[in-house]
Amino acid sequence: MMKICEQCRKQFDEKQKKCPVCGKRLKKQYTEQELKNIQKENDDITVINTFLM
Ligand SMILES: [Zn+2]
Repeated sequence: MMKICEQCRKQFDEKQKKCPVCGKRLKKQYTEQELKNIQKENDDITVINTFLM
């Protein structure tokens, strides 16, 4: 997994906690597959919520 600095728009190794350039906290850069998994989880939660209501 890579991490990204929103300020510099650069990718860094996930071991980096802060951007070495600007010092801003890095955000996780999800792969396409990870995004799909997250999307799927969200869909499941929506279905459960709808069912309960
Ligand atoms: Zn930066």
